[in-house]
Amino acid sequence: MLELLFLLLPIAAAYGWYMGRRSVRIRQQQSQQTLSKNYYEGLNFLLSDQPDKAVDLFIDLLQVDEETFDTHLSLGTLFRKRGEVDRSIRIHQNLIARPHLSLEQRDLAMMELGKDFLAAGLYDRAEEIFLQLVKDPDHSEESERQLLSIYQATKEWWKAIRVAKRFKRASRKALMPTVAHYYCELAATETDSQAQQKLLTTALKTDSQCARANIQLTRMALAEGKEAEAIGHFERLCRQDGGFAVELVDAMETAYRNLQRLDDYHEQLEQLLSKEGQVTVLLALAKLVEARSGVEVAQQLILAQLKRQPTMRGFHRLMKMQLNLVDSDQAKDSLILLSDLVEKQVRLRPKYRCQSCGFPGHTLYWHCPSCKSWGQIKRIRGLDGE
Ligand SMILES: [Zn+2]
Repeated sequence: MLELLFLLLPIAAAYGWYMGRRSVRIRQQQSQQTLSKNYYEGLNFLLSDQPDKAVDLFIDLLQVDEETFDTHLSLGTLFRKRGEVDRSIRIHQNLIARPHLSLEQRDLAMMELGKDFLAAGLYDRAEEIFLQLVKDPDHSEESERQLLSIYQATKEWWKAIRVAKRFKRASRKALMPTVAHYYCELAATETDSQAQQKLLTTALKTDSQCARANIQLTRMALAEGKEAEAIGHFERLCRQDGGFAVELVDAMETAYRNLQRLDDYHEQLEQLLSKEGQVTVLLALAKLVEARSGVEVAQQLILAQLKRQPTMRGFHRLMKMQLNLVDSDQAKDSLILLSDLVEKQVRLRPKYRCQSCGFPGHTLYWHCPSCKSWGQIKRIRGLDGE
């Protein structure tokens, strides 16, 4: 009996092997059947003009393994760039949920998921991810940059400053003008005048070329009636690069006048005009010259500058001056008509433009609403600008 059982053993093994193979084949067949069913369903969606449903189905069909990991990652990024953030979140979350991913692959997928959350405006979830990744040397700088974007969007300036200070030396240096803007943002929301002043001074220590800090300091001093102090800040602004002094040229006239320092004002305007050549400076100077030396000298000044650098606003002022000198009514009417046309045109044109992305506008934004760069929006130069 026992021998018989031994004899049956190879048959039992062979049967087991056969049954095993059969069940694998059946599973494969079932899986292939599901795959082809889904595939045809996807095709059906495509043909019936429902590409969204088709894309979702094909994403589900794509198995995550060593070879398709990069495809999944790129597909998710592609969806995010197209603005389809819910899809990119789903793909990246699906990737992270795979148990067999390497640590490096998981971090890469986490980085992309963080960017998805940021794009979707889910700042707290994005922050959580980047705060984890920032500890990893391979992803720290990228995570720090993403954290900066989050804190800028949520206006958490102190947090942004702390992150900026963590950057490696070379990148930190390049970030300093931006950090100076963070201090200016803090100053703008501060109600205590002394604290405000301290923040603006820190902005200037962070970036000595921060024109915004000097503009804010000048405006503060003017509002508090400290005209001598305002002139000090304004003159420091005039020595800075970027041509931002033009923002305060008209507002400063009264301060110089009240302190009987119009000669200094005159000198400052002349220096600014030779440095930047902006028409706002020219017109302020012409106004001063007209009051002091008469209309003809002022006209000569404008004409000389217009020959070097023609601007619509310069021509407009010249036409206004001519109006008082013309006797004939017909000539006067034509001049008025022409002057009104030019004025309308000038008023319609945007005054500012971002040097980075070209975003135009009538207001000076320190943080470009379009490309998010700092301090790049400046007065437009040229015929219909400065
Ligand atoms: Zn821009």
